Amino acid sequence: MLHIGHARTFAIAARRAHENAGVLVVRNEDLDPQRCRAHFVDAMFEDLRWLGLQWAEGPDCGGPYAPYSQSERRSHYLAAWRKLRDEGWIYPCTCSRKDLASAASAPNEVDDEPIYPGQCRVRTDAMDFVTPAGVNWRFRVPNGEAIAFVDIRLGPQSFLAGRDFGDFVVWRRDDVPAYQLAVTVDDALMEITEVVRGADLLKSTARQILLFQALRRSPPAYYHCGLVSDESGQRMAKRNDSASLRHLRESGWAPDEVLRHAETLAR
Ligand SMILES: [Zn+2]
Repeated sequence: MLHIGHARTFAIAARRAHENAGVLVVRNEDLDPQRCRAHFVDAMFEDLRWLGLQWAEGPDCGGPYAPYSQSERRSHYLAAWRKLRDEGWIYPCTCSRKDLASAASAPNEVDDEPIYPGQCRVRTDAMDFVTPAGVNWRFRVPNGEAIAFVDIRLGPQSFLAGRDFGDFVVWRRDDVPAYQLAVTVDDALMEITEVVRGADLLKSTARQILLFQALRRSPPAYYHCGLVSDESGQRMAKRNDSASLRHLRESGWAPDEVLRHAETLAR
């Protein structure tokens, strides 16, 4: 269920689209079969509509870059996988979770991918794979290179490949395209000009810039919002039902009250 942090991010995206005479796009990122359920998608659209913000393109209303649900865009991700494989940007990795856990590289951020120690980097069998299924595919990051970009809200950002993040997964062994690859392909093909999202994804932006370069596309501009924490200062958990739009709405809150409240909790 969407929570007030999501509402605030979406409201900021809507405001920026409006102020810049842009087009607000909603994309349903529903690739993870473990987490995506149709009733959550329905609830998401209902909650966003309740907020009173209008979007011009999305899964519910279509648009020139349809489809807008990632589960319907697999052919685009496969084409990108093939290109990255053909050009040597990615390699197959069969390390087990246990191998990675014993590799003394703790995740450096909550929810972030641990830095991959690189055992499979030397593999030369990428072209033996006709499909990506069955192994993890990792992007070979340029170790020691600084990936810099200017965030619209936060200013200049820089992350060091190999230190701040390692060879990240672009395709999962359960045959699901990873978040980093899917959003990069979509942002490019949908000609997205500005991405508005939470500041917890700053480091992912550096990863995605590497993918844009490998795919020879220009990255969009980025606006990373401050994160919304709950009253006790904890980052808003996805399962924090009391902060869900659904709960607040059923408790009689109005949309503008929800957005004002989110503002007071934002960092
Ligand atoms: Zn490996």
